[in-house]
Amino acid sequence: MKYDYLIVGSGLFGSIFAYEMTKAGKKCIVIEKRDHIGGNIYTQKQENINVHKYGAHIFHTSDKRVWEYINQFTEFNNFINSPVAVYKDKMYNLPFNMNTFYQMWGTKTPEEAMAKIEEQKREAGITEPQNLEEQAISLVGPDIYTKLIKGYTEKQWGKDCCELPAFIIKRLPVRLTFDNNYFNDRYQGIPLDGYTNVIEKMLDGIEVKLETDFFEDRKYWENIADKIVFTGMIDQYYDYEYGRLEYRGLKFETETLDMENFQGNAVINYTEREIPYTRIIEHKHFEGSDSPKTIITREYPATWKPGDEAYYPVNNTENNTIYQKYEEKAKKEENVIFGGRLGTYKYYDMWKIIEEALNTVEKEMN
Ligand code: FAD
Ligand code: UDP
Repeated sequence: MKYDYLIVGSGLFGSIFAYEMTKAGKKCIVIEKRDHIGGNIYTQKQENINVHKYGAHIFHTSDKRVWEYINQFTEFNNFINSPVAVYKDKMYNLPFNMNTFYQMWGTKTPEEAMAKIEEQKREAGITEPQNLEEQAISLVGPDIYTKLIKGYTEKQWGKDCCELPAFIIKRLPVRLTFDNNYFNDRYQGIPLDGYTNVIEKMLDGIEVKLETDFFEDRKYWENIADKIVFTGMIDQYYDYEYGRLEYRGLKFETETLDMENFQGNAVINYTEREIPYTRIIEHKHFEGSDSPKTIITREYPATWKPGDEAYYPVNNTENNTIYQKYEEKAKKEENVIFGGRLGTYKYYDMWKIIEEALNTVEKEMN
């Protein structure tokens, strides 16, 4: 065999794996079906602004090992994500905090806000939440659920909130403080030179073949390395033997505007069902670029079909049951390792991908 590892996918998972194994003296080759490296964290400089080509990517973690690891490749700025939600003619702070409660109900103290939430919860009468709708109502009550969660979630996932798993909404903090930081994590920021620069450093000196899809010449690629690290869709790898997993797609509509400041914030969510996009991001606000122009992207959720980019796994019970069968099969493989969001069918943020990649490397070394 010519290589120790064939790594399918140059996203964060594949790139960390390739970097660590090359450092350990192994010979790696990375193949990537897109025409650039980095997967979904790819950024491209336009008008002196780092454009997040596949949607807003804010790095956040509470894991010191992960934070120190990623800081080898870049410095981070001090960006704190504080998105604002628009519902009809009003704006609300996110995540759900004292500002949101004031805007929603006029409550001014934690005691008043808590009393209001308790009253709302009592009226709804949910004791053991079974799905996203019940979980959301039992966290913040029906007012916030109806205005800030239901419409956004149903367009994001293309499903009724009753059919979605509760864990999705538990990603969002609920706080009785005036704190608009979207994340609870200890560390947060955006790489000073964009994410692509991070991946370039990881892949420096490693053979990378762009616009190369593993499935277009599977036999060839299977015989080029002792082991395969696969970060694409696991159901496709197994030729859909146990059925197709479901994914959620996205469409991005990006515009350059001849003005300095379009919306005054990096992320604004549109929570009404009737507005077809979920959020508008204004890229310069992630890094405070002084460009005289600005670039914005509208993010439209989309039905996923084979051939489209698979952005999100849809981790409901049906899909997770199918995934378990693939996982069982994957565990028995001696020479194939599955990793990343699509390889393990998990709704993972970047920090979790880094943790998983480092754990996989450690296991491989032993
Ligand atoms: P990917 O980035 O998907 O990389 C997989 C790579 O494999 C891709 O480049 C793909 O083209 C390639 N590939 C797939 N199949 C093949 C094949 N057959 N042959 C060759 N190549 C193939 N995380 C955060 O921490 N903070 C955020 O703010 C955040 N925002 C997000 C916003 C959006 C809209 C999305 C979709 C995700 C967001 N994430 C965020 C999650 C983050 O993108 C992922 O955690 C991370 O990018 C996953 O890395 P990965 O390597 O697993 O996957
Ligand atoms: N969410 C919502 N309203 C919002 C923002 C998020 O209801 O204004 C819900 C929605 O269900 C979403 C989930 O919270 O899928 C997680 O949001 P997050 O911002 O973490 O999603 P991501 O950035 O991964 O798309």
